[in-house]
Amino acid sequence: MAFDYDLFVIGGGSGGVRAARIASGEHGAKVGLAEESRMGGTCVIRGCVPKKLMVFASAYPEAIAEAREYGWDVTSGGFDWTHFRTRLETELDRLEGAYRNTLQNAGVVIHDERAVIVDAHRVRLASGVEFTTKHILVATGGWPFVPEIPGRDLAITSNEMFHLPALPRRALVVGGGYIASEFACILKGLGVEVSQFYRGAQILRGFDDEARGHVANAMRAQGIDIHCGTDVMRLERTDAGIRAVATDGTEREFDLVLYATGRRPNTAGLGLEALGLTLGRNGEIPVDRFSQTAVPSVFAVGDVTGRVNLTPVAIREGHAFADTVFGGKPTAFDHGLVASAIFTQPEMGSVGLSEEAARDQEPIEVYSTAFRPIRTLFAGKQDRVLMKLIVSQASRKVLGCHIVAPEAGEMIQLAAIAIGLGATKEDFDRTCAVHPTMAEELVTMRKPTRTA
Ligand code: NDP
Repeated sequence: MAFDYDLFVIGGGSGGVRAARIASGEHGAKVGLAEESRMGGTCVIRGCVPKKLMVFASAYPEAIAEAREYGWDVTSGGFDWTHFRTRLETELDRLEGAYRNTLQNAGVVIHDERAVIVDAHRVRLASGVEFTTKHILVATGGWPFVPEIPGRDLAITSNEMFHLPALPRRALVVGGGYIASEFACILKGLGVEVSQFYRGAQILRGFDDEARGHVANAMRAQGIDIHCGTDVMRLERTDAGIRAVATDGTEREFDLVLYATGRRPNTAGLGLEALGLTLGRNGEIPVDRFSQTAVPSVFAVGDVTGRVNLTPVAIREGHAFADTVFGGKPTAFDHGLVASAIFTQPEMGSVGLSEEAARDQEPIEVYSTAFRPIRTLFAGKQDRVLMKLIVSQASRKVLGCHIVAPEAGEMIQLAAIAIGLGATKEDFDRTCAVHPTMAEELVTMRKPTRTA
C-alpha cells in the first residue's frame, strides 16, 4: 500500500523536530509534522530557553552589587519588565522561525494544526484532512499539572510566567522541584518578595541530600522564604490579591501564586486508547528501548513517554528513533547517565548517583568540600560552593558528581564526559588542576570526607 507519508510526527518540540529532520533530511523519508501551538515546543517557547534568559536577567542586581566592591561606580536604575518581555518575545519569534526553517530545509511538510491518531496508519488534522502514514511518532510533550484545590484557577503555571503584564510585589511558589526552585530564584532576583511552599522535608527531592541542602540554604540566605512540610489547602481572591490558606495554619496574601507541581504527559484525546494502547498512571505512553509502542507502527519520544523529562533526552530519543526506523541502524538511547543542571542561584549540576543512592548500592567514599570562591569572597560575600564526588570503594570509579556553584551547569557537562568514560578517582587525581578556578577542587580532593 502506498502511504501519503513514511512518517507523520505529532508535536513540533525538541524530540519531534529532531526526529522529523533526521528522518527526512538524512534518511530521505517523506515526513509530515503537525504542531497545534508554536514550533519549538516547551523548551523553546515556554521552558528552558525563556527561563534561562530570565535567569540571566535576574542575576544583574547581584552582579552590580559585586561590581561596586570591585571598584566600579555603578548603580542599578531598576528593572523594566516590559522592556525585557518585549525582547524575549522577539527572541522567541526568531527561534521559532529558525526551527521552522530547519524543518522546511530538511523537506518536512509542516501542518500548523492539531493532529490526532485515527488508526495505526492514519492521522486526522483539526481541519478534517486525513493522511495515511507508514509510521506515526507521538512527541506531544507534557503540560503543567495543578492539583484540584479550591481556588486553583487563581494560580498560574510556568506557561504564563513569560507573559505577565507586570511583575508582582509578593509571589508564592508552590512545589519543590526544578521549576519551582528556579522561578523562586528568578523572581527574587528581579526584586519580588518570594515565598516557596513545599510539601516535603527538603526541596529538590531525588538529588543528593547535601547538595539540596546547600542550594536551599543559599536560597534562604538570599531572602527566599522557603517553608518545607507546607502545602496550600485553598486559594481565595481578596481585595488586594490572593490569600493562600496553608497546612501549617498560616493565611497569607500574595499578588501572584505560581504552581510548579509537576507536569503530565500530553496524551488526552490523541486517539491512543482507541489504538489499544494502555497508558501509564499519569497518561504516559509505554515504549520499549527503541521508543516503539505496543502498536508496531506507532512510536513515542520525549516527555510524553515519562522517561527522563529533559530536552536533550528527547532530542537523543528522536534521533535514535529516526536512525533505527529510517537509517537501518537500530539505536537505543542510554538513559543511565544523564547529567542535568538546575538553574537556581547558585546553580546545581549533577551527574550519576547521589550519596544516598550510591551507598544503598555498594560501599563508597565521599569527597566533599564547601568553600568560598575568590570572586565573591573578594566582594565580601559569604557564598560557598560545593564540590562533591562519590567513589566506589571496590572499582574506584566515580559514581556521581554534584556541584553547587555559579556555572555549575557548564562544569557538570565536562565531568559527565569523564564519568561516562568510567573515570576512577585516581584518573581525577592524575589530572592537573586549572588554577585558579572553582572546578580545580574536583581534582585536588585527596582524603575522603567520609566512607559509607
Ligand atoms: P518536578 O517533578 O521536578 O517537581 C514537582 C514538585 O511538585 C515536587 O516538589 C512535588 O513534590 C510537588 N508536587 C507534586 N504534586 C503535588 C501536589 N499534588 N501538591 C503539592 N505539591 C506537589 O516537576 P517540575 O514541574 O518542577 O518540572 C517538570 C519537569 O521538567 C521535571 O521533571 C524536569 O525534568 C523538567 N525540568 C528540567 C529543568 C532543568 O533541567 N533545569 C528545568 C525545569 C524543568 P514531591 O517532591 O513531594 O513529589
